[in-house]
Amino acid sequence: MIIKPKFFDSFRCIASDCPDTCCAGWEIDVDEDTAEYYSTLTGENGEYVRSKLRCEDSVQLCREGERCPFLRGDNLCELILRLGEGALCDICREHPRFYSGSDGVTEVGVGLCCPEAARLWLTESCEFVYEDDGERMSAVEEETVARQLMLIRHITSGGGTLGERLARLIDDEPDAELYPKLRRLYTLLEALDPSFAGGFSDAPVSVTDKRYIKLAAYFLFRYYFELGETLCIKFTAASLVMIAAMGGDLVTAAKDFSKEVEYDTDNLDRIYDFLSDCCGLAKLCREVLGG
Ligand code: SF4
Repeated sequence: MIIKPKFFDSFRCIASDCPDTCCAGWEIDVDEDTAEYYSTLTGENGEYVRSKLRCEDSVQLCREGERCPFLRGDNLCELILRLGEGALCDICREHPRFYSGSDGVTEVGVGLCCPEAARLWLTESCEFVYEDDGERMSAVEEETVARQLMLIRHITSGGGTLGERLARLIDDEPDAELYPKLRRLYTLLEALDPSFAGGFSDAPVSVTDKRYIKLAAYFLFRYYFELGETLCIKFTAASLVMIAAMGGDLVTAAKDFSKEVEYDTDNLDRIYDFLSDCCGLAKLCREVLGG
């Protein structure tokens, strides 16, 4: 079974209209099938494509500065223009889609690191649809999905503020020093953009913007299977608190946060380690997430 946000199929890359680009700042490994395809290309296109590859232990796209070698000045992809979308490697074809779940259930969505995906998550309704892919969910998987969707319903339409809804689920001891500890943790993460570390306010920032509820649904949908319920709720709460502390336009803050945090497994592991043992999140949620 596939579960996805109702808006999922309407996602389209906005290419040269994108205020950011996912084609800069990352190391891109080319999958074996695509590397093999590139090696068989003939003529000028073959020479061109292979001149942009670095073949050592694995095949990677050679970055030019921070940018993908196929990214033109107008932010269109030269590879697509020459050979069509079918010529993209797996990472480029799939991005910013994510997949989670287990054997009988695949949860698929689009990651907040893409401004168009972030815009959809923050404007569309938090509804999820099922699609039959021929895989049957086990009884345990059915129960897990039911708990997850119930949790998302509680967060999106339960009683009280978003902060109160999260706090009731976390229910930990207060720790007045939690925000400074979180700020220090996120400030010391490995970052693509050095200004990310300096982007968090000195004190927690209270927000009433109802779009934080949609952001919560995103994190609960994306991480529930991977982290389990307790850590997933804590990760959701901490992410919202830190996005609020970034200030500015919410789509931009969510996108920047996602790029730096969600796509670096070392950063994620450090955050998960910290959250597993920390206290004070319930109180911090009540203070910050008043919407
Ligand atoms: S970040 Fe999103 S909209 Fe922008 S170029 Fe990448 S996929 Fe397209």
